[in-house]
Amino acid sequence: MGRLNSINPADGSVVGSVKISTKSDVANAFKKAKKIFPLWSRTPLEERIEYIDKFAEEIQKQKEELAKIITLEMGKPYKEALGEVAGCRETIRYYTKKGPDILQEEIISKENAGERKIVFEPWGVCGVITPWNYPISLPINKIISNILVGNTVLFKPSEYTPLCGQKIVEIFKKVGLPEGVVNVVFGDGKVGKMVVDTPVNFICFTGSSKVGQEIYQKCGRKFIKCVLELGGSSPALVFADTDLNSAVENLYWARFSNCGQVCCAVKRVFVEDSIFHPFLERMIEKVSQKKIGDPFTDVDFGPLVSKKQLDLLVSQVKDAIQKGAKVEIGGKRPEGREYRKGNFFLPTILTNVNFKMRVLKEEVFGPVLPIMPFKNIGEAIKMANKTQYGLSAEIYTSDPKKAEELTKDLQAGVVAINTHSFFSREAPFGGYKKSGIGREGGKYGLRELVQIKYICRE
Ligand code: NAD
Repeated sequence: MGRLNSINPADGSVVGSVKISTKSDVANAFKKAKKIFPLWSRTPLEERIEYIDKFAEEIQKQKEELAKIITLEMGKPYKEALGEVAGCRETIRYYTKKGPDILQEEIISKENAGERKIVFEPWGVCGVITPWNYPISLPINKIISNILVGNTVLFKPSEYTPLCGQKIVEIFKKVGLPEGVVNVVFGDGKVGKMVVDTPVNFICFTGSSKVGQEIYQKCGRKFIKCVLELGGSSPALVFADTDLNSAVENLYWARFSNCGQVCCAVKRVFVEDSIFHPFLERMIEKVSQKKIGDPFTDVDFGPLVSKKQLDLLVSQVKDAIQKGAKVEIGGKRPEGREYRKGNFFLPTILTNVNFKMRVLKEEVFGPVLPIMPFKNIGEAIKMANKTQYGLSAEIYTSDPKKAEELTKDLQAGVVAINTHSFFSREAPFGGYKKSGIGREGGKYGLRELVQIKYICRE
């Protein structure tokens, strides 16, 4: 049987390997999930939560080990990987605390013997398919929320981070989760297709819009529901009346954290022309102070996840330069022996950009920031919305009225004002346009994972 190697993107070495799942492995994993569903879905919620609490404790105990696997497999700086693992505990705590209220039946009316109420019931087996950029937190979020509501899971992690997926399932086993509730299969898109082709009742997918669209079409033919969290090319609008230092701080983080490999990263910045140059100068200064290198050392940038992503990024930057973009900083791979074997790319700022360039038309999943000036608010809105995506958008201004008005114009599932730290466990996350269907997280996210039944008794 074939094996899938996990490659360290910092030096090309093999970190470990897993067996690639065959069609019959996927079918068996599905059968296990289906078989235990009646028992699991009728297990009292408090009991399901006990397993989840034990899982959260184990995550805490193994946080260094988990962070190490993240860094080894996808190159995220170790300190950021530790942050990713810490965030999982918070997410789990939210679900176990707030979940029971959100899933509580709702009485509409009660009169004498009569009653009208709404109850929430699990779908059945959920296919969970995830990407590599948050290889521990994204799967955990989806799996925990699904098993909390009573679904069982057929899980396929990214082919670039199989060991993270394996570790998650090992921890479920360690805490005694009944066999079959969470089942893992390994491989690339072919195995992902096999998961979608099983008779799963529901799919939770995070990944590119291209694959999301394919899954959406298949789900349509099968008549099953899916929640799709997809790509983005989030804009930021920076107005002349903003606090410039704070805007630069926020937008540095918004574009460059996780080496630019974040769905809701700000991938296009539009700056009011009167402050374009001071903004640009400060951003260049900030980027020039950052360190790139071995992600287990004290660096700001590790490598990109794979050679494929590096090649894609290089081709997008090349296209921009050929069409007249100016490289303000970066624009190429770093020089030096220590970088040769890894997928490193220097943090980059481009100006003189236009909408014919791929860096503005496509999602750019790496540390490259195109900055463009705008003359007035109307032009700014047009440029922000000139994209197939609609995941998030950011506004930087000291005028609250202007910001509030702008929230109505921006086509995005999340609009943040004067901050990039918009993530909240209570808030629904998801996109407009090709950035997704449905929401994840909070009350609205949890309710996506259940069927709604209305019961009426006279
Ligand atoms: P991808 O779409 O290539 O792969 C995602 C997952 O789908 C992987 O497990 C892959 O093996 C699987 N897959 C590939 N082809 C498939 C198919 N035909 N059928 C079923 N499964 C298939 O995406 P990626 O490169 O792993 O991740 C990067 C993308 O994910 C970016 O576009 C990013 O914006 C997006 N993303 C979105 C969010 C969000 O919440 N909106 C979060 C993180 C990442």
